[in-house]
Amino acid sequence: MVQGESPGGGAAEHPAVGFLWEAHAEAVERARAASEPALLLWPTHPVEFLLAGQEVNTSETRAAEAHIRLHMPEAVLVRVEAERGILTEHADAGGRCAVCLDPAADRRREWPCPTVLGLARAWGWQG
Ligand SMILES: [Zn+2]
Repeated sequence: MVQGESPGGGAAEHPAVGFLWEAHAEAVERARAASEPALLLWPTHPVEFLLAGQEVNTSETRAAEAHIRLHMPEAVLVRVEAERGILTEHADAGGRCAVCLDPAADRRREWPCPTVLGLARAWGWQG
């Protein structure tokens, strides 16, 4: 599969799913571009926050460090891979999600299911 290409592919793909595949592809591209030539630019433990040349270590700086680590290239790549796995599971099966059940209707949920739409919203989908 080509990077960013959905497994189902095709023109009938739901816009939220196309958006999500594009968001994943862009995140992977940016993460790779950020990590390959410049590994040393990323913080090693511990991250130092300086104020007027003095190291500052507070609960706020530790929270900021944790936030930075969530967005480091390898963390982004791991998250995208996990989400691609979720998308593969929650595939379009004849207009219904392959795994999600709608207990009230006693059938599978309409595709894209709330899980897929939730992932798309997490990346900025507003449809
Ligand atoms: Zn589903």
